[in-house]
Amino acid sequence: MKIKDLDFRVYIPNEKINNRVEELAEQITWDFRGKSPVLVGVLNGCFMFLSDLVKEIDLDVEICFTKYSSYQSTESSGKVIELIGFDNVIKGKDVIIVEDIVDTGLTMGHLLKEIQKFSPKSVKVTALLYKPEALKHEAKIDYLGFEIKNKFVVGYGLDYDGFGRNLKDIYILNNNDNPGTTEVG
Ligand code: 5GP
Repeated sequence: MKIKDLDFRVYIPNEKINNRVEELAEQITWDFRGKSPVLVGVLNGCFMFLSDLVKEIDLDVEICFTKYSSYQSTESSGKVIELIGFDNVIKGKDVIIVEDIVDTGLTMGHLLKEIQKFSPKSVKVTALLYKPEALKHEAKIDYLGFEIKNKFVVGYGLDYDGFGRNLKDIYILNNNDNPGTTEVG
């Protein structure tokens, strides 16, 4: 499948994503029983993951969003720019950060530092995808969807230059050094 100038192939089909998201929601529901956590979605990439996740969480939850930028095209720029900051609603609350993907870990490290300024009661992190080979900064993921290889992915909320976010499946860049097998954790 082509998005702009690049060729992608299906990497994680929607059914597999849905099953994993349900499992994560069940785990969160169990771990937070008796509590009302605030889910903080990291825009834009989290929107599909967060919306599917919250529908399966059987708790009273609040939802808010934050937005940071570190990616340009298909590579991390190495800098994090705050576009929407944290909300005061998280003060004294049990917070679950909802990220689409942890790549270098730069954004996550920054978020974890920033969030402490708002005095949350506790902070957990859920990320749909994680690229262990790309990690350069300390990252904390309490609820992980899939470990993936160090390649650019799109779909299910993730974009390539603004496109591909509405795709149901997750696609991976189709390079020669990237044979057609699906290797997801
Ligand atoms: P990090 O700060 O961990 O390097 O990157 C975090 C952000 O970069 C993610 O929230 C996501 O927006 C973007 N990103 C990292 N890897 C990918 C990728 O493979 N595909 C897409 N579309 N975005 C990515």
